[in-house]
Amino acid sequence: MLVFQKYGGTSLGTLDRIRRCARRCLGVVASGNELVVVVSAMSGETNRLIALANALAEPAAELDGASSHKGPWVAPRKGGQAHNRELDQLVSTGENVSASLLAMAIHQAGGQAVSLAGHQLGMRTDDAFTHARITDIETSRIRSELAAGRIVVCAGFQGTSPGGDITTLGRGGSDTSAVALAASLRADVCEILTDVDGVFTTDPRVVSHARKIDRLCFEEMLELASVGAKVLQLRSVEVAARFGVPIHVRSSEHQGQGTMIVPEEESMESVVVSAVALDRNEGKVTVVDLPDVPGTVAGLFEALAEAGIVVDMIIQNAGHAGHTDVSFTVPESDLAEAEALLAARGDKVVTDPGICKVSLVGLGMRSHAGVASRMFRILATEGINIDMVTTSTIKISVAVAERYGELALRALHDGFGLAGPVEPSGDSAGDSAVGSAPDQA
Ligand code: ADP
Ligand code: ASP
Ligand code: MG
Repeated sequence: MLVFQKYGGTSLGTLDRIRRCARRCLGVVASGNELVVVVSAMSGETNRLIALANALAEPAAELDGASSHKGPWVAPRKGGQAHNRELDQLVSTGENVSASLLAMAIHQAGGQAVSLAGHQLGMRTDDAFTHARITDIETSRIRSELAAGRIVVCAGFQGTSPGGDITTLGRGGSDTSAVALAASLRADVCEILTDVDGVFTTDPRVVSHARKIDRLCFEEMLELASVGAKVLQLRSVEVAARFGVPIHVRSSEHQGQGTMIVPEEESMESVVVSAVALDRNEGKVTVVDLPDVPGTVAGLFEALAEAGIVVDMIIQNAGHAGHTDVSFTVPESDLAEAEALLAARGDKVVTDPGICKVSLVGLGMRSHAGVASRMFRILATEGINIDMVTTSTIKISVAVAERYGELALRALHDGFGLAGPVEPSGDSAGDSAVGSAPDQA
């Protein structure tokens, strides 16, 4: 059988961990399988490289993941095409390092392996540096390496543009590399090996009693990834759904069964809410006193779209005296740019970085009434004010003040009965779910 495994950054964070991954790879081939491995950069490395680039542009910035004041999960600073080309050239090195080290560790453990960078493994993309899209994969090199009996260790996250430059696929893009490779080599399943045991009812690092979900359908995982559960990059799920590649999200630490992401099955309908998610990376913009005439809102959002700013939630207030207010959310890293752009148009703008988005996802919402009212009641009971709401057929998201984000997440998680069976020893179930503590110094 041809097995696909993607190892995330924490799983490769130290030489000891890399050796452990190497032993796991050898276990897969010892059972008679061929193996393609996709690797992320060692944990923290991509952030370190982005921070270096940002500090060069802005020397006052600190070098400790400085691209974000809300944690590391933030896109690189926007620059021109030339800047973004260099950024990709820079950040792609992280995956090259871990691919070579893993291949060496496999050699040292007695196996045969070869590491391949994006251009060697035939990963072709467009030239949208920092968020490139895969156009096709030329798999002949991978096939010949497999035929020669080697474990193929692919650098994730990177590809090459039509002009031969290095591109990257956006933060978390190794997931997409892995699923796309699995699709083009017609794998039965793509394993995403990570630092949690699977996909949980919410981030187990925030809610320690979150429960592992055994099966999710592509549609639910798409929504979950889009509302901030970073366990899988959104585009990896899009690719998996399009090509029908099941994903198995599981621990890199042990062989236990994780979460299968599969096409929808009838039995799945019964769960109303499968998971909840918190996205801290949102900022709110309010444009006040806009003329309440056709075309105003179109012009506003066209200006944002031209600047490549993705808008999420939108509310337009009832008009008053021929004027209206419009509020919307954007990624927090785009807030300053959105403000400057609208101010330059002459709009009266107020921004608020202190909001976050909390979302419920579940297939059963399609056929169950009252999910929104129950959500609003749970939040009201906690004294949490709702700022904005958006829905899809299987998702409800609310924007709330950021200081209430975790409280809202916990209240909704438990209020919708997602908590696992109560353990007598309190937190211990959650601790084991997250996996053993990193062993690095
Ligand atoms: P990797 O480095 O392996 O790609 P990531 O850090 O990208 O790992 O993704 C795994 C992390 O996703 C977990 O450590 C966890 O904190 C976070 N996460 C957020 N939501 C969820 C969820 N619903 N289930 C599991 N993990 C989640
Ligand atoms: N190393 C890249 C990142 O941190 C890609 C990945 O981990 O999937 O975003
Ligand atoms: Mg990841």
